[in-house]
Amino acid sequence: MSSISEAGVVAAVDKELFIGGKWVPATGGKTFPVLDPSTGEALCEVADASPADGVSALDAAVAAQADWANVAPRERGEILRRAYELLIERADELALVMTLEMGKPLAESKGEITYAAEFFRWFAEEAVRIDGGYAVAPNGTGRFLVTKQPVGPCLLITPWNFPMAMGTRKIGPAVAAGCTMIIKPAAQTPLSMLALAAILAEAGLPEGVLNVLTTSDSGGVMEPLIRDGRARKLSFTGSTGVGRKLLEQCADKVLRTSMELGGNAPFLVFEDADLDAAIEGAMTAKMRNIGEACTAANRFYVQRGIVDEFSRRLTERMEALPMGRGTEEGVVVGPLIDEAAVEKVSGLVSDATSRGARVLTGGATVDGPGNFYQATVLTDVPKDARLASEEIFGPVAPITPFDSEDEAVAAANDTEFGLVSYVYTSDLKRALRVSERLEAGMIGLNQGLVSNPAAPFGGIKQSGLGREGGTVGIDEFLETKYIAVAL
Ligand code: NAP
Repeated sequence: MSSISEAGVVAAVDKELFIGGKWVPATGGKTFPVLDPSTGEALCEVADASPADGVSALDAAVAAQADWANVAPRERGEILRRAYELLIERADELALVMTLEMGKPLAESKGEITYAAEFFRWFAEEAVRIDGGYAVAPNGTGRFLVTKQPVGPCLLITPWNFPMAMGTRKIGPAVAAGCTMIIKPAAQTPLSMLALAAILAEAGLPEGVLNVLTTSDSGGVMEPLIRDGRARKLSFTGSTGVGRKLLEQCADKVLRTSMELGGNAPFLVFEDADLDAAIEGAMTAKMRNIGEACTAANRFYVQRGIVDEFSRRLTERMEALPMGRGTEEGVVVGPLIDEAAVEKVSGLVSDATSRGARVLTGGATVDGPGNFYQATVLTDVPKDARLASEEIFGPVAPITPFDSEDEAVAAANDTEFGLVSYVYTSDLKRALRVSERLEAGMIGLNQGLVSNPAAPFGGIKQSGLGREGGTVGIDEFLETKYIAVAL
């Protein structure tokens, strides 16, 4: 680590658009700044794509599709495998870039690089396992051949909170399936994606398979590409509000969609739970990524007999977390992504306290520079507090007591979201019963982290459509074709 400098790692990233295998400037040489959320200062400028640049990227993805679909699955897998190895080899430099543009502590950035790389390793292995079928028709005279083919050129849009892993979770299966693609990272964190594109090119990804558009005008650049009709799929990770808008745009040309949207995770702790494990899990589920995760525990429901002890112990842990710039040794609470995020978190806490919630620790912004908010625990949070229904996306843990299992399940399910729920109990029957009753795509049962490249990640209700990762992840990028054979 000592040989790498902040300026050095930023300077090493290509900052142009990556189109057709080449780094090119945006039309008119336009650029926009990338800011360090811990200082508010600009790190560098990156190319600001125009709608015309978007069309060039789509032309490149469309032109490369037929040849890419014919590349042997083993070769597609080998490219991903090489990219996995390069990511692991360069994890320190890549983590520093991520911390500088996104703010999370270095150890977490490094964890994300490993997590991101694991999607490439997983899909390198899945590329050679795309299956099909051969069956006798029910009437006995015909035969069914079933095969899977790449969907075609894809549009991928990713958020700022996991700047690399949300990319590899889409690029990995798209490459493995034989799709070409355009990826548009969030304007706040483009550097990690640009660095990833360079690594994929080095790993041997052919020209035009991956195209990267950085832009300050995401709607203006992406909508024409969605409506163009030549791209056959949109895979989006971001807020439910933007996801809804994009689904409407996709309806026009009936694009395939994968939607990884917002969450509002409940975290249930029953009196029979292992309290040490519950506190540990709560810290992970709440504080991973400074609370800026779709999987972040948004509401803690704790059974009345243990709510005081749980609150006291969680408060002690939250109070002890070092806050600071993510590059500093030992820091756990980095800055939030921007001023608007701090205002949102602050507004949600004020709303809760005005309705009767009590602050056990934190509850305030921190003087700048940087977008810091204290690690906070609230108790006696009433049902009608806004943070019970809105994503907090910050380091705030609201606790509400409950009496019965039915009451806890009803409170947990009282949301339009359904991404993940966490349950802590030592009673096996209750664990399974409650897991089945919770309306969520994923359940953390006595654990505060569910993300795993080998598992199907995704939500129900307004948390999204489709799954990323696991054995089903590649299906999102494949069409099933059935050939009716007359014998
Ligand atoms: P966001 O505002 O919805 O943005 C997500 C992406 O969409 C960014 O690249 C953004 O680009 C782009 N975008 C925004 N408006 C667009 C438009 N009209 N047309 C095309 N693209 C557009 O979400 P965010 O604030 O970055 O991310 C946080 C949200 O993502 C949270 O709700 C979180 O729960 C969710 N999330 C979900 C998952 C999951 O797997 N379910 C994972 C991570 C995050 P610009 O920012 O450059 O405009």
